[in-house]
Order: sequence, then structure tokens, then C-alpha cells
Amino acid sequence: MADILMYGLLLLALAIGFALGRWHPRRKSAHYPKDYALNYYKGLSYLFNEQPDSAIDAFIGSLAVNSDTLETHLALGNMLRRRGEVTKAIKIHQNLLARPGLNVRQQHESQIELARDYIKAGLLDRAEALLLELVKLSSMYKLQALEHLIEIYQDENEWDDAIAMASQLERRAKQHDQGQGLEQMQAHFACEQALQDLEARHITKARVHLQEALRFDPSSARASILFARLEFSQGRYREALKHIHRIPAQDPEYLIEVLDTLIESYERLGESRALDDYLQKLLKEHPSNTLIIKIADRLRWSQDDYVAADFIAEQLKLNPSIRTLNRLVELHLPHSEGKAKENLELLKQLVDQVIAEKPSYCCNKCGFTGNSLHWLCPGCKSWGSIRPIRGVAGE
Ligand SMILES: [Zn+2]
Repeated sequence: MADILMYGLLLLALAIGFALGRWHPRRKSAHYPKDYALNYYKGLSYLFNEQPDSAIDAFIGSLAVNSDTLETHLALGNMLRRRGEVTKAIKIHQNLLARPGLNVRQQHESQIELARDYIKAGLLDRAEALLLELVKLSSMYKLQALEHLIEIYQDENEWDDAIAMASQLERRAKQHDQGQGLEQMQAHFACEQALQDLEARHITKARVHLQEALRFDPSSARASILFARLEFSQGRYREALKHIHRIPAQDPEYLIEVLDTLIESYERLGESRALDDYLQKLLKEHPSNTLIIKIADRLRWSQDDYVAADFIAEQLKLNPSIRTLNRLVELHLPHSEGKAKENLELLKQLVDQVIAEKPSYCCNKCGFTGNSLHWLCPGCKSWGSIRPIRGVAGE
């Protein structure tokens, strides 16, 4: 179907080109009509013989580049890129840029399309050079060029450059009352810088970048999570807790990511009572299955399996959940025997299977699902759109 469409468009383009060529006799050289008609018919014959490569060469050779035909060239180039025929798209857009007859806006339009071809072809250095030039020239394609540059720097893990481009984009977008989400994106870039710092064991630099992330976006739960883990790893438990305590107001759904750090920090400070109080507060305000299981585990160790099982059974009445049901079965298993034990084991096997098949995280923009938390969605490349799944099979 796509092939038929492309051939249809090519045919149309050639027909338009032929007509335009006839309407612009001033462009003709002494040999123009002959060459032109020859290329045109060649193009048609290639199409009918299903040789699109040759048809494109004939197209480039036959359709003069001018203000009237530019859109046809661009449309064909863009369609080829969308179809994944990047080499051909590059050929068409390079051909446009090489022509002296275009005005500045048309040159810039051809330039951004060529940069898009290069991105698709993975030739990021070439795309970067074209886009930086468009930004510098402050052309009407500056916003789009900045967006593409951010994509490139993201892919290359060049976070300093990504932040610089996002800042420019933010300034420009604010003039047009746009730019929502840019602060959040910059916060993620700063978090990525912090991760690079941590990998290189530059703790102080990592702290600076995390503070920067919180300045970009004070509700960045990711920055608080990273900060808490960093301080915990340095034995600064009070500091770790300070960052965790900020998360409920930032984005409570991500609390489950730091429950272990939270519990361990309180424990190491010898503040079990304060921990239990805080867990109960969270249970009331931001209940989740992971939290219920953590509280049940604490009840198990401080009291016994039965108290933990009763707690889970109560919670199951409020929020039916496969994961907490599984923990309830686990708690009953050691205390059962004979047929009851056999049935419980069978039940556990089934529940384990259901849990294994269910993803834990889902992107609220594209529906990508997985079992680990990605801050940049691999499906749609959105920042912070992947969240823990809630409901019977999730949190
Ligand atoms: Zn997504």
C-alpha cells in the first residue's frame, strides 16, 4: 500500500514538474525541453518497471528547483525518510540545498529536513552541525532545531549541552507562552549528570547537580530519590531521610522506590518507633501494596506471622491485590499441613505465575510496559512518564 502511495506521489510530482516546466519557459535552455521530457518519460518508465531508485534520480533531474516546486521536493524527501529510505531522502534534500535559487526561509527549511535525515541515519555529528547553524542564524526553525539538538545530546549522554539547549528553548518558548515540561526535562538532565558523577565517584559534584535538578523542578521526586540514596551510601542517614520526607509532596507514587532506604535509615539511627509512626502515616495518606508488605514484614519480625497475616487480610479487604494476597499465602504456608498446605502451595504457584506475567511499570503517554523504572521512556522518549502500575495486579 505504501509503495503504491509513493509511486502515486512520484507520478504526481513528475506530472506537476512537467506542467511547471512548461509554464516557465524563461528557465529553459536551448536543450531544456528535450532533456526535460526525456527525464520525465524515463522517470515514468522506471515507475512502471518498479525501479523507484532510478525514478528518484529521474525526478531530481527533471523537476527544476524553484519556489513553486520546492514543496513537491520536500514532500517527496520527507516521505522517503518516513519510509526509512534515508539515503534517498538525503539525496533530495542535499540537491535542494545545493541550488542557489531558494530564499533564506526555503534554504533553512531544506536544511532542517536534511538534519532530520541525518538523525534518522544516525549521522548525528552532521545533523548537529546543520542544527547549530540554524540556531545561530536565529531562523524561524530555531525552536525545532533546538528540540532536535536536545534529542541528539540526550542520545549521546551529553547532558551539559542538553541543558544549555533546553535553557535556550525555554527562553524562546516562554515568549510564546509555551515550554511546559522543560523545567522537568532539565531536572532529569541534571539527575543524569549526577549519575555520571556518582559513577566517577565525584560525590560533591553529584550533590551540586542534584541541587540544580531541584532548582529546575522542585517537585522532582527523582532528584530526591537519588539524593536519599547518595546520602545513605555516605552514612548520612538523617540527610537521606530529609530527602525521602520530601517525596510524598512531590510525587507519592515514587515512594515505593525508596522504602528500603527509608526503613534502613531509621533503623540505623535507632529510631524504630519513629519509623513505625511514619509508615502508618504513609499507609493512611499514600497506601501502596509494597508499603503494606513492608509493614507486614516488620510486624512479622517484631511480633509473629499471625499478626502480620491479620494486618494483610485487613488491608486486602480495603485494596484487593494479587501481590499482597501472595504474601498472605506465604505467611500461612509454614503453619499449615496436609491437604491445606498442598492447596496453599498450588495457590502460591498460580499467583506467582500471574505476578511474573504482569509488568510493574507503564508509560502514561505511549503505554510502554516493563518491570524496571525507566525515567526516559524507551517507547516514546518522554521524561518521567513511566509510573508504577496501580490496581489489583499492581501497586
Ligand atoms: Zn512512553
